[in-house]
Amino acid sequence: MLSGDVRCFCARCLKEFPKHIELDVNAPLADSLQDEDNPDIFLLEGDAVDLDEVFRTAFTFHMPQRLLCFEDCKGLCDRCGKNLNDGPCDCTAEADPRLAVLRQLLEK
Ligand SMILES: [Zn+2]
Ligand SMILES: [Zn+2]
Repeated sequence: MLSGDVRCFCARCLKEFPKHIELDVNAPLADSLQDEDNPDIFLLEGDAVDLDEVFRTAFTFHMPQRLLCFEDCKGLCDRCGKNLNDGPCDCTAEADPRLAVLRQLLEK
């Protein structure tokens, strides 16, 4: 079991946030790489193993693809790039009336 605090980037708003991770990982250690396709084998360099490296590699392989700073993260505005968790941006207020008509048509 590996655990630690890592710094992640939110997939939606790109904000950096800390996350405590526990990984149930088998990390067999080997002094030579027998199976190059197995990412869970860590090479020993001399008699020491770089635990940091083990953790980072395991983390990369076992983490879900998308991390969010919190579940309902609103992300960034496509148009101005404002972080919408901080409040609505001006783009949403001045919606193009033609687009609004189009949206109504689509909703029907
Ligand atoms: Zn976020
Ligand atoms: Zn905007």
